[in-house]
Amino acid sequence: MPDPRHARRIQGLGTTVFSRMTALATEHDAVNLGQGFPDEDPHPALVEAVDRAMRDGHHQYAPGPGVPRLREAVAAHQQRHQGLVFDPDTDVTITFGATEAIAAAVLGLCDPGDEVLVVEPVYDAYSAVIALAGGVEVRVALDPPPHGAPDTGWRLDPGRLAAAVTPRTRLLILNSPHNPTGAVFDTDLLDAIAATCVEHDLVAITDEVYEHLVYDGRHVSLATRPGMEARTVTVSSAGKTFSCTGWKVGWACARGELSSAVRATKQYLSFSGGTPFQHAIADALRLPDAVVHEVADRNRGRRDLVVDALTGLGLPTVRSAGTYFVTADLAPVGFDDADAFCHWAPGAIGLAAVPVSAFVLDPAPVRSLVRLAFCKRDAVLAEGMERLAGALTGRSTSRP
Ligand code: PMP
Ligand code: GLN
Repeated sequence: MPDPRHARRIQGLGTTVFSRMTALATEHDAVNLGQGFPDEDPHPALVEAVDRAMRDGHHQYAPGPGVPRLREAVAAHQQRHQGLVFDPDTDVTITFGATEAIAAAVLGLCDPGDEVLVVEPVYDAYSAVIALAGGVEVRVALDPPPHGAPDTGWRLDPGRLAAAVTPRTRLLILNSPHNPTGAVFDTDLLDAIAATCVEHDLVAITDEVYEHLVYDGRHVSLATRPGMEARTVTVSSAGKTFSCTGWKVGWACARGELSSAVRATKQYLSFSGGTPFQHAIADALRLPDAVVHEVADRNRGRRDLVVDALTGLGLPTVRSAGTYFVTADLAPVGFDDADAFCHWAPGAIGLAAVPVSAFVLDPAPVRSLVRLAFCKRDAVLAEGMERLAGALTGRSTSRP
């Protein structure tokens, strides 16, 4: 029953699947492969940088668009990694994580009734903020890998995206590397998406928070594709790149009226936040690339550990090209309903995961798929795999 005091725009938002699964993990002291956050500390240089920022007296409000030296560091980062040129004074806005950047962009660019394209499985924050803006979410489904053929990976048919455009379509939100599937969209696909945006005069908001966690292939920003530079709001954050998800330092890079829409909105969401963390990330972005590569290399090893273990247990598992996540099919080992499994497993076998059905409207095609986060220490992952093996070999008695 909706709460009669709740505004219509928040009815249906509920509690995020990540919070719900982490609550179950905590209640049962389970290995938490549900919510995507690392269980290791950031590089010591980052901790020292926050400490220094605090001792240097950076305790008060940052300027609304963010501390200038961080905006400069973000602009330099975008140029170095993607060849994109942004003016730190006008085009770069520091936000409270990527989440606030996406919220500011959607609220600033979407009128009630406008259609916003998203790729399904969809990260839940997009649907929520489109609802807050009064927009109409239009989902374009990725194809799951055919049963038993995980090597195919998840695929986006660009023709399906183009076919979803109507005269009301205003925005596209694109997430690559993609949560929850781990897909990394290649240049051909990005070019096809860019052509659709240009043909229909769409603005793209890209969520690139996993840009440095790519294990196969390479990350390419949509803004680099033909015609996209002036029609894209490029969003990312430091949380995944530097293993500091709780610091919530993010950014939006865009030109002209796209940037002014983000800034106009962001000033009334939080104004600014986390001044010492902004200074620390300014320092972090100037560290040698080896610091970032180390995080990615460790996560590549963890991905392989989990994929090999799951495959060995008989679960077809996609070897994700990027992100913190793999998707695995429980059907061949007798669990047809991943949602039931994810509610049962924390208490029964001490393991938390997230059902892929939480990211889609029609659960049927993904009913038996789970998302597992591998951004955890090897010993934790090994324990999680051991607990799952116990469930499959009947060492745990009950089943959902
Ligand atoms: N986008 C995606 C695809 C995510 O997985 C997450 C969560 N890690 C976020 C955005 C949130 O990023 P931030 O913590 O920087 O707000
Ligand atoms: N992005 C993280 C995930 O997908 C969760 C962040 C959150 O809890 N909002 O697990």
